[in-house]
Amino acid sequence: MTHPGGVYNPPRSVLDLYTPRFVKGKGIEKVGLCPICIEPFDRGGEKKKLWLAMKFSAFNYHMQYAHGICAATGRPFSPPTAFRIIPRQNPGKKEKVRIQQGKCHKCNKWVAVEGIKDMESKVKELHWWKHAAACHQESNLPGECDYFENDHVLATLLPLKTKQEAKE
Ligand SMILES: [Zn+2]
Ligand SMILES: [Zn+2]
Repeated sequence: MTHPGGVYNPPRSVLDLYTPRFVKGKGIEKVGLCPICIEPFDRGGEKKKLWLAMKFSAFNYHMQYAHGICAATGRPFSPPTAFRIIPRQNPGKKEKVRIQQGKCHKCNKWVAVEGIKDMESKVKELHWWKHAAACHQESNLPGECDYFENDHVLATLLPLKTKQEAKE
């Protein structure tokens, strides 16, 4: 892969999915490269250089609501622990008569995981990620793991992680 431009920006850990690895500019002009969009398609990316403003939360918004990556942990938001579909009271015109909810491991509440409008949203998980961003903080479901592609990239990164942890 060719150098994407900008300067190297060290992540919190080698497995940090949030921090941009490359940034350009300073102050309010500073932009960061989305570390997920740049990945090839077979690793879940879009092979696309997407530079986003670090100030005014454009970068934060993209990572949390386009990829579901938590800013606090650098990991994916935990999914609901259960799903249910319930009828809605007095649905308006062009609104769903039933809605799907997901159960949150942190607050134990049932949260709508879809919009009430009778159409598909562009990012299906958006409602859940918005709840997770506001509720989960640094909490993940216990035992959650395995969200990395088990490939040569992970095989290269894991020894670095052990080295990094040994230094701390
Ligand atoms: Zn992205
Ligand atoms: Zn919650």
